[in-house]
Amino acid sequence: MKHHPAPVSRVTVLSGGVGGARFTRGLLAYLESAGHRTDVTVIVNTGDDMWLHGVRVCPDLDTMMYTLGEGVEESQGWGRAGETATVATELRRYQLGWDWFTLGDRDLATHLARTELLRAGWPLSRVTARLCERCDIAPTILPMTDHEVETMVVMAGDGPADLRTVHFEEWWVRLRAAVPAERFVQTGVAHSVAAPGVLESIQSADVVLLPPSNPVVSIGTILGIPGIASALAATAAPVVGISPIIGGSAVRGMADACLQAIGVETSAEAVAHHYRAAFGILDGWLVDSIDHEAAGRVTARGLLTKAVPLWMSDLTTTQAMAQESLLLAEELRH
Ligand code: GDP
Ligand code: CA
Repeated sequence: MKHHPAPVSRVTVLSGGVGGARFTRGLLAYLESAGHRTDVTVIVNTGDDMWLHGVRVCPDLDTMMYTLGEGVEESQGWGRAGETATVATELRRYQLGWDWFTLGDRDLATHLARTELLRAGWPLSRVTARLCERCDIAPTILPMTDHEVETMVVMAGDGPADLRTVHFEEWWVRLRAAVPAERFVQTGVAHSVAAPGVLESIQSADVVLLPPSNPVVSIGTILGIPGIASALAATAAPVVGISPIIGGSAVRGMADACLQAIGVETSAEAVAHHYRAAFGILDGWLVDSIDHEAAGRVTARGLLTKAVPLWMSDLTTTQAMAQESLLLAEELRH
């Protein structure tokens, strides 16, 4: 049995939806089992957000909230368990909205509540804190920004770029990322600012973790918000990442299609180098045991890397991953 890392006061996590939420749940379970009273802050990607049927949908924030709070649908990793689609079925009869994106009835209540508060003038960060009150979520969950910064995909092809541009969710869900992306664009990012608490939580953290989230459209999107990458580069806390790529494939989902668009190979090694080259961050890296040879090469190039099991097949294995990431951070602090 591995020893436990010394307790730390503050851990900050940058996360997308399913991968990040599963990891964060494992991290919380680990901290509790080890008896560590650590404050955890999770900065969540909001690039996948959209207006649909007049309500604001925030897929990654909701996945985080449902996974840490109550009632996520375990089989898919997102949405509410025991979901029904009465409203969506009725909406379809009006031929409105998108028939490839179904809002479940329970889930819809979240979007209605969020939209009510947004329309009352609350910023998304405050709305998110209010929604999290319902189910006793221990960590602080922060959107990356209060601004509407949405990820658009410019698809490869001929003709004007605006005619080839779709919202990320349309590319991902309707097109299953099968049409190659030429590039990703974050609308309004230049004028956006990090949500209150985001930069502070990076500056004051003892450890920053990058869970196995999509490195391009989840973590990459967060890192695009002005000030976040530089705060990560400047913080005294070690920044430790966990590879979302195992043995050259994306485990679940289509992250390879995103990596291809930005010219990064689908490998644990290439993702680590990308974080360093594009954003100037990353002090430690965990790769799966199957990638142990890559661990040696990456360490030789100056980034401390360990090979450990990285399949989040159940809570126990995910807890062990979290423990390994904190042990690596401890090693980096000494
Ligand atoms: P999304 O916003 O719901 O797509 O979720 P994230 O961006 O947080 O995470 C998606 C990524 O998690 C995928 O690209 C996978 O590469 C990665 N992933 C999913 N399951 C696992 C797992 O069990 N282990 C590891 N290492 N990565 C995983
Ligand atoms: Ca997402």
